[in-house]
Amino acid sequence: MRNNILILGISLLLCCLSHVPIIHADNPIPVIAGDGTLRRVRVPILMYHYISPPPPNADIYRINLSLDPNLFEQHLAYLRAEKYDTISLHALHDALMIGAPLPPKPVILTFDDGYTDHFTAAFPLLQKAGYTGTFFIITEFADRAAPGYMTWEQIQAMAAADMQMESHTKTHPDLRGRSYEFLVHEILGSIESLNAHTNQQTRFFCFPGGKYDVRTLETLQTTDILRAVTTQPGTLHTTDNYYELPRLRITNETGVAGLAHLLKNF
Ligand SMILES: [Zn+2]
Repeated sequence: MRNNILILGISLLLCCLSHVPIIHADNPIPVIAGDGTLRRVRVPILMYHYISPPPPNADIYRINLSLDPNLFEQHLAYLRAEKYDTISLHALHDALMIGAPLPPKPVILTFDDGYTDHFTAAFPLLQKAGYTGTFFIITEFADRAAPGYMTWEQIQAMAAADMQMESHTKTHPDLRGRSYEFLVHEILGSIESLNAHTNQQTRFFCFPGGKYDVRTLETLQTTDILRAVTTQPGTLHTTDNYYELPRLRITNETGVAGLAHLLKNF
């Protein structure tokens, strides 16, 4: 830990002198000053996809990603009974950067891909429970009003109701091995679309399929994105891990007992 603090101090000094972000070979993340303290915070970030039963012809992937709304409601009831409070990724970021206080049992609920059932099922159930969620939107699908995905009107309605609408690229491509121009188009393009369509400032990002490489991370550094979430399992977050936040995957088989197990064992 002492070594880390020493390295951070030297990095900050170099950063101030050179006015360019420092890229570590094994960790291409710019050193961004909070109050200079490195922190660790344990916050479960739950990863949901469809909140609807799968259609009759669904393949194994679709089935795996689909949680019945009744079961989702039971998840929320369990979180309430266990006295969890939902927080935003902003709140987690502030806790890591400046030690902003968090509730005793914080949890972040994330929903990937912007499916219609996020508006028709997840949104009303979250509101009923007095909870908020973070939704990662594929913006070109909203532009096209693609069937099965939320429209901009639905996204705006949720943003106006304190749901966080964040970036999941424009078209959900594999971001590995791409040119800088491609990455800027997909990442910055989706951020600009979200900013233009909502009153929110897009600050968080989710990698499509959880896939990325060093160039993806370098491109994120050129944007306003503060933190990005992955599909890697875990609940421990640190000040200097900006773009590889772990989450806990919810599948069609995650009942209330499964959720309790995840929350207690990670
Ligand atoms: Zn996705």
